[in-house]
Amino acid sequence: MAKAIDGGDSALVVVVGAGGCGMVAALAAAESGARVLLVEKTDIPGGNTALTTSLVVAGSRYQRDEGIEDDPEAFIADITRRNGGQASPGLVKLMAQQGAPVLEWLADRTGIEFTVAQGASGHSQRRAHGCGGGWAFVRELISTVTKHPNIEIRWSTPVRSLILDSSGAAIGIQTEKGVITAGKVILATGGFGANKDMVAHYIPKADGIPYRGHPGVEGDSVRMGLEAGGVVANMDSFLPYPTYFRPLQLPMPQPLIHNGAILVGENGGRFVDETRYPSGPGATMLDMPGKCAYEIFDARIRQEVASELAPVIARQAFVTGSSSDELAAKLGIDPKGLSQSIEEYNAAASGGTDQFGRTPQALLSAPFYGAQVWVSLYNTQGGLRVNENGQALKADGTTIPNLYAGGDASEGISGPGATGYLPGNGTLTAIVLGKVAGEHAARSLQD
Ligand SMILES: Cc1cc2nc3c(=O)[nH]c(=O)nc-3n(C[C@H](O)[C@H](O)[C@H](O)COP(=O)(O)OP(=O)(O)OC[C@H]3O[C@@H](n4cnc5c(N)ncnc54)[C@H](O)[C@@H]3O)c2cc1C
Repeated sequence: MAKAIDGGDSALVVVVGAGGCGMVAALAAAESGARVLLVEKTDIPGGNTALTTSLVVAGSRYQRDEGIEDDPEAFIADITRRNGGQASPGLVKLMAQQGAPVLEWLADRTGIEFTVAQGASGHSQRRAHGCGGGWAFVRELISTVTKHPNIEIRWSTPVRSLILDSSGAAIGIQTEKGVITAGKVILATGGFGANKDMVAHYIPKADGIPYRGHPGVEGDSVRMGLEAGGVVANMDSFLPYPTYFRPLQLPMPQPLIHNGAILVGENGGRFVDETRYPSGPGATMLDMPGKCAYEIFDARIRQEVASELAPVIARQAFVTGSSSDELAAKLGIDPKGLSQSIEEYNAAASGGTDQFGRTPQALLSAPFYGAQVWVSLYNTQGGLRVNENGQALKADGTTIPNLYAGGDASEGISGPGATGYLPGNGTLTAIVLGKVAGEHAARSLQD
């Protein structure tokens, strides 16, 4: 049974937030010998981590079992191609090198069984690892954390602020229910997608677009870290999911695009290589009228994506046309533009690359299907600057004593803006920074 901790003390590691980063940090600190208090705002674990599909790591035993050759250098090249080299090189290297060992450690400690999913946009190898969805991941993780004798969890306990001593070192937290003193504090409260004011301030282009993430993710770590003298980086970085059916609050499934769907604007014209998913189309749509577009596919694609499309079909989120003109009329877009887009796409499908650099795999042919789709905000990826131990940094590059941050609460590896997200990088950052921060915090308590 977990040991009760009253009031805390200087030998305690406090972890704020029971999402992926916080749970991994708690487990890593406890396994390194520390007593840990995990404090969560809501009454259930998971945060945005429970909403994920998969995460990416390079060079895992699961990849080797499938004969997939991959390594951190190839991963670094892919990350850098996507983010334009604008993220912290130290963090990029950390994620690429530590992703696979941390994933395997997690699997061994929790019993989570990962499999390698099909390829994801921007990755030169198959390296997305899933385990039946984010909730399955969270369920196994919390089960292990809950049973650990060194970890106590407090639910429904929002943390309001940090407590600092006169030198500026973190020595505890102020919760809604009182003060808890601690030797180390790890901030893992996720990003700030649910905080409309912060989104408007840091990402003006995303102001007002639908938010699809967890309601508890309100930027509390950023606020607390800044109050403690920390600095932030890449605050306008976020995951812009481009194909969200706003009226029914339903995402159109990603495999539509990978199986050949196209996106057009009101004029019926395409505007991007859709397979640079999700950030390529998402970032472009932020500048389009209504921040929306129209996703067009055909019967072959509908058939190939049938299982993922089932919720969309059940709720009739798209319309059908026996010709592109009929579909355009139903969607209220320009028919000439749409038929020209389909013609040009089909011309490239006979062995070429289209004007956006996409290589179509097959012809689009009638009957057609289409839905109006809106860009939505999944998670934010800017946050507190940290080093490779997860220690929170000041403007001069020195650390704030005893303070750590990880996951969406910290700067990620997507660089600035809306175009740098490489699929699967969000949860990767959560587990790797959670692991290194938890271990470093526990070991420095013993020094
Ligand atoms: C719909 C959706 C799909 C996604 N799909 C993927 C994907 O397939 N692959 C991928 O890599 N990434 C994906 N992401 C991004 C990914 O979810 C995040 O990058 C990752 O989960 C962040 O983990 P975290 O632990 O930092 O934060 P979270 O998992 O969000 O956890 C934060 C926790 O902190 C708690 N908290 C907040 N404030 C306080 C406070 N003051 N006191 C105490 N507790 C607090 C919250 O309640 C929450 O439980 C997706 C995001 C969304 C929204």
